[in-house]
Amino acid sequence: MSKNIRCSFCGRNHDEIQVGIPGMNGEFICSDCLVQAFDIIEEEAPELLQKATPTPSTDETVKFDKTPVDIKKHLDGFVIGQNQAKVSMAVAVYNHYKRLNQPEEKDDVTIEKSNLILVGQTGTGKTLLAKSIAKYLDVPFAMVDATVLTEAGYVGEDVENILTRLLQVADYSVERAERGIIFIDEIDKIARKSDNPSITRDVSGEGVQQALLKLLEGSLVNVPPKGGRKHPNQDFVQINTKNILFIAGGAFDGIQGIVKRKLNQTSVGFSSTQARQASEIKDYYGLVDSTDLKSFGLIPELLGRFPVVTGLQALSKEMLQSILKDPKNALTKQYQKIFALDNVDLKFTKGALDEIVDVAMKQKLGARGLRGICEKVLREPMFHLPEYAASNDTFTVDKELVSKSFS
Ligand code: ADP
Repeated sequence: MSKNIRCSFCGRNHDEIQVGIPGMNGEFICSDCLVQAFDIIEEEAPELLQKATPTPSTDETVKFDKTPVDIKKHLDGFVIGQNQAKVSMAVAVYNHYKRLNQPEEKDDVTIEKSNLILVGQTGTGKTLLAKSIAKYLDVPFAMVDATVLTEAGYVGEDVENILTRLLQVADYSVERAERGIIFIDEIDKIARKSDNPSITRDVSGEGVQQALLKLLEGSLVNVPPKGGRKHPNQDFVQINTKNILFIAGGAFDGIQGIVKRKLNQTSVGFSSTQARQASEIKDYYGLVDSTDLKSFGLIPELLGRFPVVTGLQALSKEMLQSILKDPKNALTKQYQKIFALDNVDLKFTKGALDEIVDVAMKQKLGARGLRGICEKVLREPMFHLPEYAASNDTFTVDKELVSKSFS
């Protein structure tokens, strides 16, 4: 490096510069200024770095060596019950990856995407199922609430912003985002009003459904990498949604009535045994299909792009008990870990678990209520945890402690 070189940006001379990069007309930029410039671009326009960084040419196929049984086994470790949903999901995901690895235009048969809708009351594990599968597959996972989406031009979020989230989760790798999973929660809240007048919802529900079609069918979508309308001048990034798996979830309050009416209609003219069987069914969610969702107010075009519909059962007392203690990440195990960090052995008696489940059943929040209940029960003990740590090596949660917390 010649002695009289100076960085044209910071003005430092050659002995303060580690590396200098010459320009066309004798100017130089030092490595420090380059690093700073990189930081600014990363902050202001990360998508440019994405474009600028050549992604290594990858094999078009995705390595996928899991069977539906493997997938279900994995889900069993985290989600209690919901066998029907687990099997549907395992098959949908397995087919999805087979489809991704299918060479294009080999014959006239194109395998369509197996997007799926999970129907079940709140807190029964819909989100947990979707999250668990994304983690298992190691693909980017983004979650969006359908209620915040609006048709373009209205106040709210444009549907393209769903892809912005996925892109962000994929660290702005378009390639990774294009193989991700998107979970659209509360899909029932964008149902068309006219088919179900008993429920009041956003009048633009059907418009949002229409807008979603574009994403679901597999097309090139212009995505604002920073999302929203706050950054009007950002460059769009194109994302192909062809291989993105969409999972939608919703409670569809009132769907039991729709299924019940359908069953009663079909049992007319059949034997009284069949009619009685129809009236004795408790788990209507397990029987939901696309026609019921159509009656609820999802448009046929949207349903056509969600070929798999599966129901989640309401959680019984036994299932709630099991959720408290059995999953790999079970709540009781989490609290035991917190206590163990202070060298205190935390124990729950059977009576305590029964009582927690009873409170949860009363709250009707499904498993979602369990955490709040445990927090309330353990608030005082956790406040005094450092003291127990000094004097006592075991803390037992019994029925009395739980009932006292809710009296
Ligand atoms: P939703 O059906 O409303 O999407 P979530 O999946 O978000 O419900 O569940 C809320 C919480 O309840 C989860 O974090 C999870 O800990 C727990 N949970 C719900 N259902 C189950 C289940 N079947 N097995 C294990 N945990 C569950």
